[in-house]
Amino acid sequence: MDGTRSAAPISLERVRKQYPDGTVAVESLTLDIAAGETTVLIGPSGCGKSTVLRMINRLVEPSGGLIRLDGADVSAVDAAKLRRSIGYVIQHVGLFPHQTVRTNVGTVPRLLGWSKTRVRERTEELLTLVGLDPDRFGSRYPHELSGGQRQRVGVARALAADPVVLLMDEPFSAVDPIVRGRLQDEFRRLQGTVRKTVVLVTHDIDEAVRLGDRIAVLSEHGHLQQFDPPARLLAAPANDFVREFVGGERGIKLLAVTPIPRDRLRPAAAGGSVAGVVVDASATLQDALAVMLREGTAVVAVRDGDEVVGTLTAEDVVAAVAAPADAAPAEPVHDGPVHEGPVHKEPAHKGEG
Ligand code: ADP
Repeated sequence: MDGTRSAAPISLERVRKQYPDGTVAVESLTLDIAAGETTVLIGPSGCGKSTVLRMINRLVEPSGGLIRLDGADVSAVDAAKLRRSIGYVIQHVGLFPHQTVRTNVGTVPRLLGWSKTRVRERTEELLTLVGLDPDRFGSRYPHELSGGQRQRVGVARALAADPVVLLMDEPFSAVDPIVRGRLQDEFRRLQGTVRKTVVLVTHDIDEAVRLGDRIAVLSEHGHLQQFDPPARLLAAPANDFVREFVGGERGIKLLAVTPIPRDRLRPAAAGGSVAGVVVDASATLQDALAVMLREGTAVVAVRDGDEVVGTLTAEDVVAAVAAPADAAPAEPVHDGPVHEGPVHKEPAHKGEG
């Protein structure tokens, strides 16, 4: 696919938004959003998340501060042109109801004056990428799709002109939890392919942990309380606000984003043969614990390729997530077998919407 690696960093410097009625939605936010990562903005309703997102594509004009996209001040760029370089996905998608799926997806490429053939090719490619068979779904109208399928079309449309940034405002909130889980898996797979700079707004901590490379926790008036990878956020909440926000089950959540601590494994028995209960070294602690519970054992062998590299006990799992904050892993895990979302090749998504 052409241009799949195009992604740009975004920086916010003391950005402020006061609406005309006097509401200070964002007081002064400074945030560096890395290229090719998924940055999640999370916080209670009304804390300014959507306003931040909409300032990036200038649907809302900041009252102060500076926003740079790939180093350039966005206020100096023509707003319409800027928005064509930024994909935007919202909760209720906003597909054009009287246009087919294909026409919807081709919107921005047509605005950019691409040839018919190129628009057609790109549309087919994108629909396939989001798991919708173009032959089957391309000629349908939005009302002929399930909620989950509409959301996929929305994502395809946002990606059509290969934007450098993808902004997603509660993209999966309007669908039921099962479909949401599936869309989240698909998003992870998709982002693994396209590697856009994604800024995603949610109020759901599980979604944030699942999708974010980094999570920015905001409180009222867009005050930044913590900005860290999920594992770090869960292991070491910066303050009571964050601790309360991530919730009482943060230990469980942490298991899912913590890799098996290779350097803290117990030595494998001499000979190191692969016998008994085994987990792969790339698994997370959650995977390891799930295996222990399933097999009724408190110890598993950890295997890397054909070699057993050590053993892990239930106690080690507990110790790893109870470890002091400084020992917490700095990077989130997104490659473990449990977390690697299934690739839904079949276009049919029964029971949606
Ligand atoms: P969130 O996305 O975190 O729920 P928003 O960014 O939508 O928060 O809103 C932040 C604050 O700004 C809220 O108090 C909201 O009521 C207010 N707000 C949002 N849009 C407008 C507007 N157009 N005019 C006045 N106030 C607004």
